[in-house]
Amino acid sequence: MSNPLLDTSGLPNFDAIKPQHALPALQELIAAHRQKLAAILAQPGAHDCASLITPMEEMSHELGRVWSPIGHLQSVLDDPAWRDAYNESLPLLTEHGTELSQNNELQKAYVQVADDLPADADPALRALIDQELRDFRLAGVALPEAQKTRYRELAQEIAALQATFEQNIQDATDHWHYQTVDDDAVAGLPDSVRQRASADAEENDAEGWWFKLDYPNYHAVMTHGESRELREVFYRAWSTRASDQAADAQWDNSDIIERIMSLRHEAAKIVGFDNYAAYSLATKMAGSVDEVTEFLTELAKKSRQTAQIELQELTAFAGQPLEPWDFSFYMEKLKQDRYAISDEELKQYFPFATVKTGMFDVAERLYGISVVENTNASGWHESVKYFEIHNADGGLVGSFYTDLFARKGKRGGAWMDECVVRKDVAGADTCPVGYLVCNFPPPDEGGASLLTHTDVVTLFHEFGHMLHHLLTRIGYPSIAGINGVPWDAVELPSQFMENFAWSYDVLKECSARQDSGEPLPREVFDNLEASRNFGEALAMLRQIELALFDFRLHANYDPAKGASVLPTLNAVRAEVALIQHPDFNRLPHSFSHIFAGGYAAGYYSYKWAEVLAADAFAAFEESGIFDRATAARFREEILEIGGSRDFMEAYIAFRGRKPTLDALLRQSGIGKAA
Ligand SMILES: [Zn+2]
Repeated sequence: MSNPLLDTSGLPNFDAIKPQHALPALQELIAAHRQKLAAILAQPGAHDCASLITPMEEMSHELGRVWSPIGHLQSVLDDPAWRDAYNESLPLLTEHGTELSQNNELQKAYVQVADDLPADADPALRALIDQELRDFRLAGVALPEAQKTRYRELAQEIAALQATFEQNIQDATDHWHYQTVDDDAVAGLPDSVRQRASADAEENDAEGWWFKLDYPNYHAVMTHGESRELREVFYRAWSTRASDQAADAQWDNSDIIERIMSLRHEAAKIVGFDNYAAYSLATKMAGSVDEVTEFLTELAKKSRQTAQIELQELTAFAGQPLEPWDFSFYMEKLKQDRYAISDEELKQYFPFATVKTGMFDVAERLYGISVVENTNASGWHESVKYFEIHNADGGLVGSFYTDLFARKGKRGGAWMDECVVRKDVAGADTCPVGYLVCNFPPPDEGGASLLTHTDVVTLFHEFGHMLHHLLTRIGYPSIAGINGVPWDAVELPSQFMENFAWSYDVLKECSARQDSGEPLPREVFDNLEASRNFGEALAMLRQIELALFDFRLHANYDPAKGASVLPTLNAVRAEVALIQHPDFNRLPHSFSHIFAGGYAAGYYSYKWAEVLAADAFAAFEESGIFDRATAARFREEILEIGGSRDFMEAYIAFRGRKPTLDALLRQSGIGKAA
């Protein structure tokens, strides 16, 4: 076999895989899969697990393995050829996915296997088939022809509208600028922001400073800008982007929002849901529209008193009534004043190597596993490392690559991705493999990379996803590891791990001051924790405001009345928000998460997963954070199950009860005074 991408016998051969292999590999594989599928469906007699499920799982696993290095390398390598290879291959993959999800014969075959499944069948197999049937339903495959066509049209138009929504925000943002020659206007702004504004002025043949409306500028002005006028200018520009209230209203998203809402509602009805919120919940852990609404309103109610206290403290600190463009600024000032935490100072305690060792120790202590570097695997860059995870009995559980330092051309941010998903069907067990990617500062000449505490938390977060991916015991790839996990629960293992990076017992093992080797002092940690908590209740209300707006908008859509976007927002604000916004505020018009991204009627998921993570961690706090029995239960009921069980049922099996809000509130310093 000459194409190294098609060699799936071991780890990907990164030395040999080149961009020109991508498209041919995918073409060849998909063609072969089409033939196999046709043969499967043409089989005489009834379908069963061995004739349908096993080969389908084998094919999806194989496709994932071949695709993984393509997606991965284009994001971590500074190579236009990889990006081109990715862009020309991606449509093939998408098209093939649609082909499968729209295949009527295939859907019927799954239905038949489901009907014939014996009562004592493997629950994981049943869960897998249920998931496939649900996805067929959500793809509209079993609908009568006219409805099926309409459903496809709706999906296409919604996708196009979402893209226009995003483009309008981009255009509105790009066409805005603010120019000033006034020294006072730029007071307090970080040097880097001023330098950029002055360079942009030069480029536009203007004097002084020329500010664009990108997020770094907006954030810097709102957080550090001493000039209240400048903050107000930015607040107004930012909160009216792509709306009727913008200085230039040609990119107004109002009609697009109406249209998206109407089409989503229609699509949800076609596949049998009352509204789009109910449709969204079909793939989530939360059980019902009422459950989500109650969850959010309860969280708001419990946060309110602490938020009021925070607001009073902040107002007293500012010495004047606060406008919406004052909050971030005084919050930052108050924190500096009260806690004086400097990132530079904290960094001295967190050399990367110490943090990494400390973090692996946490996983070893919790789960009795060992994390060992293996220097024999080939990577895609000299800084890439490869680790194996072994069980106490020495057996290999899984392995992962790390690529942790920023470099030119690498996509920003931090993420975990699947290289190989666990597969144990038809007698062949394949161990899972993952990629852990971050953008930490590259090591200096002495070889040290110093992390901020935020970096440390990020590393723990991604490692939490990694453990979820690697420790699975499910053998069907479609529901192994993070696959098939409802997405309001998929952040549970990652956010859960973050908690360890906020535990002093862990941090003192993860820290060693550059010059003296001294671990993080207790008083520095206490300060860090206090500064984390202040303002949390106000931030909580803000997130609930967004989540409740999103959810109610989709749940209460009425075709006769339209979306009622602003009335819904105003009602939610009146109910939960402490910070009132001016009438010109048009938050929905640039709310990309729900009108352009995948978070429609799902923005609540952030809070939902946080509650789960805090509540799960509280079980460890109750029994000692390294308690082996609690960890074994967490591993068995949560980390290992993939999408093989109802997630709430699994959570209750771990915790002995449903999650409660208490732990998150306590962790956020909310309710102390209540
Ligand atoms: Zn995450």
